[in-house]
Amino acid sequence: ETIHKNIVQFQSTLVPDSIIGIGIGAPGPLDIKRGIIDFAPNLPGWRDVPLRKILKDEFNMKIVLENDANAAAWGERCFGVGQGVDNLVCFTLGTGIGGGIIIDGKIYHGNNCGAAELGHMTVNKDGPRCNCGNYGCLEAYSSAIGIKNRIKNRIKEGIKSEFLNFDSDDKLFESLSLKSIFEAARKGDKLTENIVEEAISYLGIAIANITNILNPKMVVLVGGMTNEGDKLLLPLREEVKKRAFYSNYKPLKIVIGKLDGNAGVLGAAALLWIPEIYSL
Ligand SMILES: [Zn+2]
Repeated sequence: ETIHKNIVQFQSTLVPDSIIGIGIGAPGPLDIKRGIIDFAPNLPGWRDVPLRKILKDEFNMKIVLENDANAAAWGERCFGVGQGVDNLVCFTLGTGIGGGIIIDGKIYHGNNCGAAELGHMTVNKDGPRCNCGNYGCLEAYSSAIGIKNRIKNRIKEGIKSEFLNFDSDDKLFESLSLKSIFEAARKGDKLTENIVEEAISYLGIAIANITNILNPKMVVLVGGMTNEGDKLLLPLREEVKKRAFYSNYKPLKIVIGKLDGNAGVLGAAALLWIPEIYSL
C-alpha cells in the first residue's frame, strides 16, 4: 500500500511515461525468468511469491526481479568503481554475505539462477554451522552476524574483553557495532583480536579461490565492513597475494565500491537496460 502510494506520488512529479519500469533486488533464491521469489529465509512467510506478476498487475509496467547482490554488482559495474570492467566479482559484506559475478560484461546466473552465493563457499570443513545448513561457510566467519556469533561463543567460554563491556545476552551486545569490534581488536583486545583477524583472513581465502577460478579484473567489496577502509583492504590483499596464482593476483584490483549503500538500488534500476535477460 505504502509503496504504491510512494510510486504514484513519485510518478506524478515526473514527465508522463518517464518511468520505464521497476527493478527489484531481492534476497534469493529466486527465479529471474519467471519473476518469482522461491524462498527468502529472512522474510518470514515469503515462499513462491510471484512478485513480478503482483507488481505488474499493480503498475502495468516492466518489472525486473534480480538477486540483491547481483543487483549491487551490476550497480557498481554501471555507475561505480567497476565502470568499463567486464570481469568483476562483488562481495556484499553485510549482516550476511552475498555475491555477484559479472563475466564478459554480463551477470552470471548459472543453470537456475543459483550462482554467486559467495557467502556460502566452504572455507573450513570443521567450521561453525551456517544458516544454510552447511558448516564452515565464509558467512559464518566474515559477516557481521558471523563475527558477533563467534564473539558470543567466546564470551560463553569465559573470555573477557578489555575494551568492550557487555555479556553475550546483553542488549548492549546486540547493538554492538562492527566499528567498535574492529577498534577493540586493533587495540589488542583478547576477545575480538583473532576473530577479526580470521574474518579478514577467511575473506581473503574466498577471494583467492574465486580469483583462481574466474581470473577477474576486479573484486569489489560493498557493505558495512567496508567502512574499515585500508584497515580491511591491506591485510586482505596480503592474504589473497599469499594464496592466489601470482599471475592472477598481480593485475587484480581489490577495491571498495563507491556507491555507499546505493549499489543495490541503482543496479536494480539499471537492470531495465537489459530486459532480455529477464525474458521481458
Ligand atoms: Zn552457508
